[in-house]
Amino acid sequence: MAGRHAHAATSMAIVTDPEAMRAEVLAARASGRRIGFVPTMGALHAGHVSLVARAAEACDDVAVSIFVNPTQFGPSEDFARYPRTLEADVAAVEQGGARWVFAPQADAIYPPGWATKIVVDGPARRFEGEVRPGHFCGVATVVCRLFLTVPADVAYFGAKDWQQTLVVKRMVCDLGLPIEVVVCPTVREPDGLAMSSRNAYLSAEDRGRAAALFESLTAAGRSWQAGEPVAAIEQQMRTHLTSRGIAVEYAAVVDRNSLEPLTTPQTPAIAIVAGRIGKTRLIDNHLLPSRSGG
Ligand code: AMP
Repeated sequence: MAGRHAHAATSMAIVTDPEAMRAEVLAARASGRRIGFVPTMGALHAGHVSLVARAAEACDDVAVSIFVNPTQFGPSEDFARYPRTLEADVAAVEQGGARWVFAPQADAIYPPGWATKIVVDGPARRFEGEVRPGHFCGVATVVCRLFLTVPADVAYFGAKDWQQTLVVKRMVCDLGLPIEVVVCPTVREPDGLAMSSRNAYLSAEDRGRAAALFESLTAAGRSWQAGEPVAAIEQQMRTHLTSRGIAVEYAAVVDRNSLEPLTTPQTPAIAIVAGRIGKTRLIDNHLLPSRSGG
């Protein structure tokens, strides 16, 4: 995957210094190259690789960041045990055609005395924002920092983290950040489970149960098209998940742009779920087709 124009350099660079990263991207842009950026926390899977491929198709050069961002994890969350597989990640990204991996240490992103945070309201308020207080502040803060460090033309995010895409787009708009945000489809396992670095936590038994998230979403899609009321669809989702041993955190059908309750039958909708299987927390969503009835 060579991008719009093949690049003379064949081997990918691993950059750890933010200033050096920024200088590289600015120099490439100054020579007329279009730069794509894929921010990740590593432990890369086919979902991440699809973002790199999409970026490589549309851009001349691609930067992929690998940074397990401490500020988006709550104190009792999985920051310490989050999978870290840098060597394999670098190989996957290089094969995907990236020009740079940006893999900073935490103190390069958060310098000594760090005291600046970005707080997004609106789409950050409900769902993940309620269950994980501070999560989107950590996400917005690091994404803003990364956008300034990797001043790309366009950044690629996965629809799997739908609420995150809304938060990032809101921030980009509100701060006037000069970057385009592209949202790419969720890549799934054959049984429908959305690929996630956290799937590695699942025991074989829990892995079997995890397909229930996708099942509940596709069933919601069918009920939606059959014209069933939102409350009934949400209840069906909860019932299905609970029957498969998943502790439901939320299961909702809402406005896909605001994540607020639907106001009209024509409002573009999304079904979103979050639940725990044992100690593992998984989220997923499904864009619902338009329907004419209530
Ligand atoms: P993460 O490493 O979990 O922070 O994810 C980095 C990026 O990859 C985010 O934009 C995610 O939404 C995206 N991503 C994660 N899983 C998938 C998936 N299964 N399909 C598509 N994109 C994904």
